Amino acid sequence: MVPFEYHILDHAQTEKMLPQIGPDVVGASFCPLDGQVNALRLLRALHVGFQRHGGRYFPDRAVERIEPRGGEFRLHGANVEISAHKIVLAAGLGNALLAAMVGINAPVRPQRGQIIVTEKVAPFMNYVVHTIRQTDEGSVMISDSVEEAGFDISVGSEVLAGRHHSSA
Ligand SMILES: Cc1cc2nc3c(=O)[nH]c(=O)nc-3n(C[C@H](O)[C@H](O)[C@H](O)COP(=O)(O)OP(=O)(O)OC[C@H]3O[C@@H](n4cnc5c(N)ncnc54)[C@H](O)[C@@H]3O)c2cc1C
Repeated sequence: MVPFEYHILDHAQTEKMLPQIGPDVVGASFCPLDGQVNALRLLRALHVGFQRHGGRYFPDRAVERIEPRGGEFRLHGANVEISAHKIVLAAGLGNALLAAMVGINAPVRPQRGQIIVTEKVAPFMNYVVHTIRQTDEGSVMISDSVEEAGFDISVGSEVLAGRHHSSA
């Protein structure tokens, strides 16, 4: 195991780092390696980096079938016919179906998560807290739910109105 630095803080130490905490906060754990990335900027950066390295991106080309044949893989779909010697399965939940076609067990399943995103406000959080964090653009993202809702992506105020404890 790789050792990493972490600190267990009491109320006063936590308050020095996050002056907004209330009196009920007993303490906190802190790891200097923790951080966050802005998902929107990350996605853009990944696309730019991918293209700079010669990658070509084909949106809206869902792979429906992978056929391993003669030392290569053939990818089939409504708008896709591609052959390659190596493929990387990075289809998220789609991997549950695709992996089985190349003999890999990838039992991924959906869990729905809802968060509250506020309007942009002046920076006030210097540290990321598990379920409260401020993006570099100023929005505050609050909480997250972990719901067994299958592929249903509908959201509502019920979860957001409740006191929710994340297990992520
Ligand atoms: C509310 C919420 C908050 C979260 N917060 C965090 C967080 O703070 N930190 C963190 O680390 N994670 C977080 N996660 C989890 C994180 O978003 C996922 O774990 C991550 O996006 C999974 O990445 P992935 O590349 O495996 O799959 P995805 O991001 O799902 O990407 C898979 C891609 O493959 C495409 N695809 C699917 N099937 C096919 C197919 N058959 N052919 C071609 N393309 C296909 C999809 O369209 C998609 O673009 C959060 C998730 C939620 C819902």
